[in-house]
Amino acid sequence: MNLSYSEAYQAFRAEVRAFLTANWTDADRASDPAPDPVKASLGSVVRADPRASEFRRQAIAAGYLYRQVPRRYGGAEQPADTLKATIITEEFKRAKAPAEILGQGPSMLVPTLLAHGTEEQRERFVEPTLLGQIRWCQGYSEPGAGSDLASLRASGVLDGDHWLVNGQKTWTSNAAEAKWMFALIRTEPGAPKHDGITYMLIDMKTPGIEVRPLRQLNGAAHFSEVFFTDVRVPRTSIVGERGRGWSVSRSTLKAERALIGNAGFARQIFDGTLALAQLTEVRGRKAIEDAVIRDRLTDLESRLLAAELNGYRLLTTNARGEDPGIFSLVAKLHTSTLFYDIARLAMDISSDRGLLAPGEPTAPFSGMLFEPYMTYYALAIGGGAPNIQRNVIGERGLGLPRDARL
Ligand SMILES: Cc1cc2nc3c(=O)[nH]c(=O)nc-3n(C[C@H](O)[C@H](O)[C@H](O)COP(=O)(O)OP(=O)(O)OC[C@H]3O[C@@H](n4cnc5c(N)ncnc54)[C@H](O)[C@@H]3O)c2cc1C
Repeated sequence: MNLSYSEAYQAFRAEVRAFLTANWTDADRASDPAPDPVKASLGSVVRADPRASEFRRQAIAAGYLYRQVPRRYGGAEQPADTLKATIITEEFKRAKAPAEILGQGPSMLVPTLLAHGTEEQRERFVEPTLLGQIRWCQGYSEPGAGSDLASLRASGVLDGDHWLVNGQKTWTSNAAEAKWMFALIRTEPGAPKHDGITYMLIDMKTPGIEVRPLRQLNGAAHFSEVFFTDVRVPRTSIVGERGRGWSVSRSTLKAERALIGNAGFARQIFDGTLALAQLTEVRGRKAIEDAVIRDRLTDLESRLLAAELNGYRLLTTNARGEDPGIFSLVAKLHTSTLFYDIARLAMDISSDRGLLAPGEPTAPFSGMLFEPYMTYYALAIGGGAPNIQRNVIGERGLGLPRDARL
């Protein structure tokens, strides 16, 4: 088996490298605020300043970013090529250059608008979203609607040219910073619960919207509750047909699971944990010399390799326009539990000191362990809790009998 790149691909790599050398300089790298892989994996910290936007525009024009998005909406519109996509990812990472923004807008809403949006919506929103100029939040969950999302009750009533929206959303990530929300709103109260929902785009500055941040154990406020009181949303601000938002929301959910299931950052986090095991002393010897720790590291690295190979498989099926079937269903569950188990090992190696916050003098890795540990726990729940993922894999992936429904 020959796993090396052909000459044509080696030439492509050289071309990408030359582009990066010319367009993303040492000065640009130096001006980048310290990247936080955990937050970046949640899409909550992304370099989207004017310099980064300018660079992304150049990279799109050269055909390197947003390759599947049509040119007329601000993408690079390139033929699907898994190896080229992999080379671009590797080279951008090596050069520490702004890559595609991962987050609710670019990764989840854009594919939904391309599949279901109107021409006007695509022209207005896609490009600024890809460049990080419009930040989005996702208004799906409510106090009584999480796993059973179709029980949502936030309502929209048509009043002339506007929908009058009332109700509450919760666990809305980044709501305090977002300019817009894509939301699921019940507009046909008499219809069966999956049929009466409409997918709306809501400007977060509209009067009647109140955002109340939810303070977490670690002091941060990643998500908020959002209250709507007689919020007027233009009649045309809906994606797909009125009352058919459930099927539109499936596109977004599929993209969300792919985003969370992306194993891209897992290698970085595993390498950090390995370094921690090599540096930390436990009972008079390095943690890496402990047989149990070594066993756990080996197990995690095997799972990591499986996640990476599954990622390549998904890239290939996507590039060929094929349905990845069960392989995309398992990615979110596998990767999010893997992230958590890696962070759990890092915590175990550091023992109680891992709980120390940034600023505590004896906190290992400047107190940066606790947050990823908590964040990865949460990541397994966001986008669908593990039990729900197992049901989806069993029912849709393996064709097992459906779970009992009350
Ligand atoms: C970090 C994070 C970010 C989030 N961001 C957003 C966001 O931006 N926008 C948004 O709309 N939502 C967001 N959410 C909410 C998320 O989608 C919900 O938390 C998730 O869908 C679970 O719903 P729930 O919290 O209501 O839990 P529940 O649905 O109440 O579930 C509680 C428990 O019961 C289990 N359970 C429920 N039903 C079944 C069943 N049929 N079979 C077996 N087990 C079952 C679940 O697995 C879980 O363990 C976020 C959540 C987190 C943690």
